[in-house]
Amino acid sequence: RPGLSMIQVEPVLPSTNAEMKLRIAKARHDLADGDVILAEVQTDGKGRHGRKWTAPVGGSLTMSMYWSFPDGYQSMAGLSLLVGVAICEALRKFNIEDAQLKWPNDIYLNGRKLAGVLIEVEGQIGATAHSVIGIGLNVNVPDTQYDVGQPHSDLTGYLGETPDRNRLAAAVIESLREMLPEFTQQGFGKFVPYWEALDLFADKKIVLQMGDKRFSGIDRGVDQSGALLVETEDGITRFHGGEVSLRGI
Ligand code: ATP
Repeated sequence: RPGLSMIQVEPVLPSTNAEMKLRIAKARHDLADGDVILAEVQTDGKGRHGRKWTAPVGGSLTMSMYWSFPDGYQSMAGLSLLVGVAICEALRKFNIEDAQLKWPNDIYLNGRKLAGVLIEVEGQIGATAHSVIGIGLNVNVPDTQYDVGQPHSDLTGYLGETPDRNRLAAAVIESLREMLPEFTQQGFGKFVPYWEALDLFADKKIVLQMGDKRFSGIDRGVDQSGALLVETEDGITRFHGGEVSLRGI
């Protein structure tokens, strides 16, 4: 299918990421970059570290996109940040100009979590990396009705009406398909200023939690690989994604 990507909508899936990973395992050669699986209902969505992602029936945009990295998984550095930039770009088409990003993988609106990104990858060192870009976005998830484990926002609450999920999906897919080729070839560097302009904690005090360890400092943006730059009295320390959780203080 040269130049053509598929968009598949399933009524119910445990997890769109799990379904895409199954495709990669079973029929990788049938997949093209930009292929997408969406679920009307996702029953067992996950966040990082196996945490639960809550997606009420009809209220969420839950989707996973396939993208390959011929130079291997090292060339994926900064991918979750890029996806955040792409989602904010898509939201602008719905007159939402003030969404922000929390390093490394969350989208915030009104200071509360609107969407999460979960990237998973299959691949071996020195070979093409096959990535799954999972997105869960709250379209109509009223906080009066749903407790998702932390303060959250949704588009309906923000806009005063529920946006069309199909149009929203199309905008997010388009935005990702537009940015990913350049990211794949040249890396995250060019996108650093875009990410920093959206940073929820720019120049603010933050605490990073790594297991039992805590580290605090001032958020000074990100480097070309998407690592967070944190300033303390001792200078700048870089943090890479993965095991780190971030909070404002
Ligand atoms: P955190 O957002 O706490 O910094 P994280 O980025 O590692 O952590 P994710 O892996 O993105 O979190 O998502 C899992 C967490 O997101 C859950 O533990 C829960 O607190 C929160 N969550 C679950 N469902 C939703 C939802 N629909 N909207 C907003 N937040 C949610």
